[in-house]
Amino acid sequence: MREGAVAAMMPFFSGTYANPSGSHRFAREARRAIDEARDDVADVLGVAPGSVIFTSCGTEADNTVLAGVSGAAVCSAAEHHAVLHPIEERADGVVIGTDATGHIDLDRLADACRTPGVGVVSVMAVNNEVGTITDLAAVAAIVRREAPDAVLHTDAVQAPCWLDLRSIAPLVDAMSFSAHKFGGPKGVGVLTLAPGVAVDPLIVGGGQERERRSGTHNVAGIVGLATALVETDHDRATEQVRLTALRDRLVDAVTGSVDGVVETVPRDRKVAGSAHMCIDGIENEALLYLLDEADVCASAASACASGAMEPSHVLAAMGIDRRLALGALRLTLGHTTTDADVDRAAEVVVGAVRRLRARAS
Ligand code: PLP
Repeated sequence: MREGAVAAMMPFFSGTYANPSGSHRFAREARRAIDEARDDVADVLGVAPGSVIFTSCGTEADNTVLAGVSGAAVCSAAEHHAVLHPIEERADGVVIGTDATGHIDLDRLADACRTPGVGVVSVMAVNNEVGTITDLAAVAAIVRREAPDAVLHTDAVQAPCWLDLRSIAPLVDAMSFSAHKFGGPKGVGVLTLAPGVAVDPLIVGGGQERERRSGTHNVAGIVGLATALVETDHDRATEQVRLTALRDRLVDAVTGSVDGVVETVPRDRKVAGSAHMCIDGIENEALLYLLDEADVCASAASACASGAMEPSHVLAAMGIDRRLALGALRLTLGHTTTDADVDRAAEVVVGAVRRLRARAS
């Protein structure tokens, strides 16, 4: 977590512990903290404070929009499961394929939007697995032209470190965020809804968040989220430059040292924090084990179903060969990443790939 976010949260675990829905002075203090957090979040996200709804996570924000709008739901095959699963479970759910970079197929999106009765279209801003940035202006132009009554939602959970949300907000009706993706605490998120966009609440009860999301506010979490978001917004431009250079150094060091490594998405199509590669002839389970032993924490984004390693749904949507996809390696960089981290990670990855290949030959 960002240190500023931790520090901002601390007073709300003891001194100002009151429930912000109460009426006494401590409750009013907590309420004020939430109001200030809402103003800060709205400013960074480019929406009005009244558009900000605090949730328990990104998944809840995604699920709320998908469950709360009637009519058919459309999304891309590369969405996070928080969007994909609710849409796949619906009889009227439509999942659109992607191109080789994981970007939604715009012609097929237009076809799907022409079908009468589309209620909601959900297309992620940045892919969590391979880092692809969606051309949301192109998506919005199609949705507004072909399905003008549909709610356009973007899962922007992976966006705040890399994209200025103020340029995205005017294109869409709803956006989802999660604090732990930008140095805030886990267990708190945001859903934004543009004025006049009607979405039935997923959680009903005490009527908090203007009846749009009931449940006692997570005051410390909300304050931590807002602090982390403001810091992220402030640092974004310099961090982009720093982390692009580090990411390039990391990927170049690996691809320059071992053969058969494919960068999954071209660098100019994805965010700086993503270093996703597919390594030919390697099973990522074995690779991750060796990396973990050497204190390099990575992910493969494969799901282990019934004992068999399955390549990720994102790589499958991109049409990546199954054998290559089983060697997927996902390294991510963020505000804590240093030059030394990158050099160490490259050295360990290269060493591990050589060991595994020597063992196999
Ligand atoms: N959407 C995307 C793109 C994500 O990367 C994630 C988390 O990894 C989520 C949604 C879910 O967010 P949360 O973990 O806050 O529920």
